[in-house]
Amino acid sequence: MATKYVYYFGGKKADGKAGMKTLLGGKGANLAEMVNIGLPVPAGFTITTEVCTAYYKNKKKYPKELKSQVLKALEKVEKQMGAVFGDKNNPLLVSVRSGARSSMPGMMETVLNVGLNDETREGLIKLTNNPRFVYDSQRRLIQMYSDVVMEKAAGIEPEEGKGVRQELERLMQKMKSERGYKSDTDLTADDLKELVELYKAKVLEVLGKPFPEDAMEQLWGAIGAVFQSWMGKRAISYRRIENIPDDWGTAVNVQSMVFGNMGDTSATGVAFTRNPATGEDFFYGEWLPNAQGEDVVAGIRTPNPINEIGKNEHTSHLPSLETAMPEVYKKLDKIQKNLEKHYRDMLDLEFTIQDGKLYMLQCRVGKRNGAAAVKMAVDMYKQKLIDKETAVTRVKPEQLDELLHPVLNPDAERNEKPLTKGLPAGPGGAHGQVVFSASDAVKWVEEGKQVVLVREETNPEDIEGMRAAEAILTARGGMTSHAALVARGWGKCCIVGAGKIEVDYENKLFTAGDVTIREGDWISLNGSKGYVYSGKLPMIDVDPENPTLTEFLKICDKVRVLKIRTNADTPEDSARARSFGAEGIGLFRTEHMFYGEGSENALFALRKMIMSETLEERKSALNELFPYVKADIKGTLEAMDGYPVTIRTLDPPLHEFVPNREDERQKLAESLGIHIDEFNLRAEKLHESNPMLGHRGVRLGITFPEITEMQVRAIFEATAELINEGKKPFPEIMIPVVGIDLELKDQYVIVKRVYEEVLKKFGLKKINHLVGTMIEIPRAAISSDRIAEYAEFFSFGTNDMTQMTFGFSRDDIGGFLPDYLKKKILPVDPFQVIDRVGVGRLMTVSVERGRRTRPGLKVGICGEHGGEPNSVEFCHMLGLNYVSCSPFRVPIARLAAARAAVEHKYGEVFIPAKPEKKTSKKVIDKKKKKK
Ligand code: PEP
Ligand code: MG
Repeated sequence: MATKYVYYFGGKKADGKAGMKTLLGGKGANLAEMVNIGLPVPAGFTITTEVCTAYYKNKKKYPKELKSQVLKALEKVEKQMGAVFGDKNNPLLVSVRSGARSSMPGMMETVLNVGLNDETREGLIKLTNNPRFVYDSQRRLIQMYSDVVMEKAAGIEPEEGKGVRQELERLMQKMKSERGYKSDTDLTADDLKELVELYKAKVLEVLGKPFPEDAMEQLWGAIGAVFQSWMGKRAISYRRIENIPDDWGTAVNVQSMVFGNMGDTSATGVAFTRNPATGEDFFYGEWLPNAQGEDVVAGIRTPNPINEIGKNEHTSHLPSLETAMPEVYKKLDKIQKNLEKHYRDMLDLEFTIQDGKLYMLQCRVGKRNGAAAVKMAVDMYKQKLIDKETAVTRVKPEQLDELLHPVLNPDAERNEKPLTKGLPAGPGGAHGQVVFSASDAVKWVEEGKQVVLVREETNPEDIEGMRAAEAILTARGGMTSHAALVARGWGKCCIVGAGKIEVDYENKLFTAGDVTIREGDWISLNGSKGYVYSGKLPMIDVDPENPTLTEFLKICDKVRVLKIRTNADTPEDSARARSFGAEGIGLFRTEHMFYGEGSENALFALRKMIMSETLEERKSALNELFPYVKADIKGTLEAMDGYPVTIRTLDPPLHEFVPNREDERQKLAESLGIHIDEFNLRAEKLHESNPMLGHRGVRLGITFPEITEMQVRAIFEATAELINEGKKPFPEIMIPVVGIDLELKDQYVIVKRVYEEVLKKFGLKKINHLVGTMIEIPRAAISSDRIAEYAEFFSFGTNDMTQMTFGFSRDDIGGFLPDYLKKKILPVDPFQVIDRVGVGRLMTVSVERGRRTRPGLKVGICGEHGGEPNSVEFCHMLGLNYVSCSPFRVPIARLAAARAAVEHKYGEVFIPAKPEKKTSKKVIDKKKKKK
């Protein structure tokens, strides 16, 4: 049977359905679904994404069956709509639109009113008795078609401002100003008729070709242009940013036109089943009377709010659809409610009202920012629209970042008068230096600057610059304009439709009233309110106590298997991490107690210990150090009471702590009772050529067992004291940089000896604790079966493990990583995202071998990867017990762990792959040959 390339939709039944996004694209699949559930959808057909793929594989030629399938589908559409494509008496007009598997708002092309020419125009005038509307539709077709099909798809790249679309736009502006009109709607039927002729002549003049009158030629031209736009610059840029593969291809939707521009009983709009900026559960949208869809999304006219509840201080004076056309609004409201129930998600809808009759043109899952995603997930879960597993997949880990986003300092903001106001399209605050073009935004950011991209209007071609900028400000456009959609999807601060600003690209400045802002000047944006300020306002972090976020994270906790711990070294950090939901400490870096405020005395004692040469000297210094270490550990154990705290013994090479300042050296020498020359000599001896691979970690404890002993005693005594105070401390003593099982055994013996001594001293029978090790040296990973003999737990130190597995210095990778990424030798920085192929395999071997020796061995991770979503997913797949990350990343790790639990079986890496059912022919042939 021939491949089916064309899927019809219309009437009561469609060939496709919602589940067929891969083949029909999002738009096509959802149009089919809307038809199937009985909504009023103008009939049409979808040309599959396979055609796009074949088109590019086959030197831009269509499969040969396509033509006949298109014609057949077109006939069905004609029958359904009671009109004929290209017919001069009863013409059918169609729109031709793109529709990829995942939505790419505004990145590809659309042509409307296809099928309109001088002949069909006359028929349509008779039918509608509305010449003004028909002439307007024709001039729109010429404008779009010449731009999209005859210029862009033909690969013509005109100079800035010289494109055919702008040339035609200028003709219209000229006519308007000559005739004293303010708005497009002031143009009369005669004006538009004249304009059509002017347009045609201009197209011929600019492009050297006449505008095609033949309806079929128009249709195939438009279809080709949509396929062509899949490989357009801005679509490619968008795909790169959003990680959409090139070979997905786009579908093409050809759909009967309905007209929102047939007069005052017609309208068009874009709406969301919930507010996409805040997540609030009310129908939200924008509409324009007597207009076509492009007018709303392109931001040419500032649209009206769809209902009364959606009005704000900027839009309160505008008419809502709810009051202007109450009957239609009621129908639309019912449809949106049903659709949301059907899809169980927030939807983005496009509709048109033609002479009082409502048509649905599109529905798709709506893009939303982080705050809205979290609120919708929580609300829909509570409304029993979705289950907990679905709820957690509704928020991407990076969207949570937005909730923990910085905002402008409200105190500073209160003292400032906004320069201007616009629509709050993307929340949070931002400040930056003003640039006026996307390419400047990219360039300035590469130079290390922070920029705000200021544009007259929303333009999808600016995608790279929008991405690079801290924030985006536009003079025109509404909340559903491209800039707003795109920025919101990225969680970027964005203000659109700031109508009072006048942008002067030529002189690189904008004015707001009598204030002039030039390129390079600082401005600040409050994207949640739509306020623009001159200058660089201070920013602050958001309040972590967001009740909706707390609720959402509790849902995550119900789903996840992995425990989430934090890397913290102070009671304050521990308390903060607890408030973010950490369930213990996965890494307490002992050495950190010697940095920062109030650490001078402890540091002095540590330095004395390091500079000691005899055992006696060292022991006396350790005695001095002991109370500091104990007090610090006690504070943190207390803050984490009831939760495990992994305390790592001293890790860095000791010489890192030797002071460089002469006066400090002098003071230490005096305190040790030695001459400064002797001091300097000892310091010299501590120097190492390669300290990262030098005398650090467990090696210190092997050489100086008394250092381990002091630390372990401090840990057990602090714990014993807390037990006697009625607390439930649970220390886990962790030995770093172990590569050999007997290194660990050496330290294990010390730990257990000190343990017995402390029990005796405090008259206790038992102190709950574990002794374990970090797995950060490849040898330790490979020989984990032996290491596990002495380790009661493992914690992956993936920072060092990545360093040692790749042989990349973690401090020097910046010098060459950009080239590795550019040349695609590495997909990402392995110090950020676990390298599953190398480091990941070592981890796999380690878990498997460790648990072979010690079934049920507790295994966690405390490298930086522990808070990175992709790595957290891998840890879940590996069956680790916990991940540990910095306090601010704890909420993201909770979500990432929950999402991993929905998408993967816990420990699935160890679930044996199913045996192949069939042996491939190649293998059989090989076997035969061997025989
Ligand atoms: C590691 O190596 O991953 C680790 C957590 O230890 P550090 O970063 O302190 O070396
Ligand atoms: Mg390490």
